[in-house]
Parts: sequence; C-alpha cells; structure tokens
Amino acid sequence: MKALFKGEINPVQLAEMFESDEKCLEFLAELKWQDGFTCRKCGNTNYCAGMEPHSRRCTKCKTKETATNGTIFHNLKFPISKAFYIAYKVCKGKEDISTYEFARRLSLRQMTCWKFKSKISDALKEMDNLSNNERNSIERLLSC
Ligand SMILES: [Zn+2]
Repeated sequence: MKALFKGEINPVQLAEMFESDEKCLEFLAELKWQDGFTCRKCGNTNYCAGMEPHSRRCTKCKTKETATNGTIFHNLKFPISKAFYIAYKVCKGKEDISTYEFARRLSLRQMTCWKFKSKISDALKEMDNLSNNERNSIERLLSC
C-alpha cells in the first residue's frame, strides 16, 4: 500500500482512477511491471497480452498474471475504482472516514467497506513487521 501510493499522483489522474476501473488497472500494471515483466512461475521475461485488460501472459509456460495478482485488489467483489478510492483515502487522506461514510459515498454495503478497510490495515501492519530487506522486495513487487 505504501508502495502503491508512494509517489504523488496528480489530481487529474487520481480523479480518473476513481471513475474508471480501466484506469486503475492501467496504473497497477504500470507500477507492477515498471522494471519489466518476469514470469512468477518460470522466470521468463517475454510476454504477450492476456485476456483481461492490462494482464500479461508468459510466452513460455502460458501463466497469466493480471495487474491485481498479488495486491490487495485481487478478487474484489466490487469495482476496483471504488477500492482505489478507499485505499487512497485510508493511506493518504487527511480525514478519518468511517466505513459508514465510505458506504454512503460509494453506494456500497457498509460491511463491504469494513472488510476492505481491514484488509488494508492488515497489509499495512504486515509491512511494519517486516525487515527492511523484505519490505524493499515487497515494495518492488507491489504486493502487500
Ligand atoms: Zn512462464
């Protein structure tokens, strides 16, 4: 999470992401593969485009990797743009927003917001417990 929002994101890009799942995936994919693609199964660095938007497929073993694999945005039951909004507000926001307030703003169930918010807190706590080395490698991988 810290890695995810480490750099400043410009407000225009941010607003776009809160509106569009596609933009969120694009953003994740850019961060995830900023140093190039490496297959997590076989280590091959060649890929072709996968079926899902911004996913990639290893050309050797055909393992597919989506932009959300290994991040807290994997297997969400609600739109990733809403999850981005919550994650951003929790990590970078100045105000403390309750899960009821998130639910109201995003038209989600309060329980959904609560669960996702706990997931973020767990990820942040886990990062604090890691040694610097572990944290660096995780930040590089963007998984949290
Ligand atoms: Zn592979």
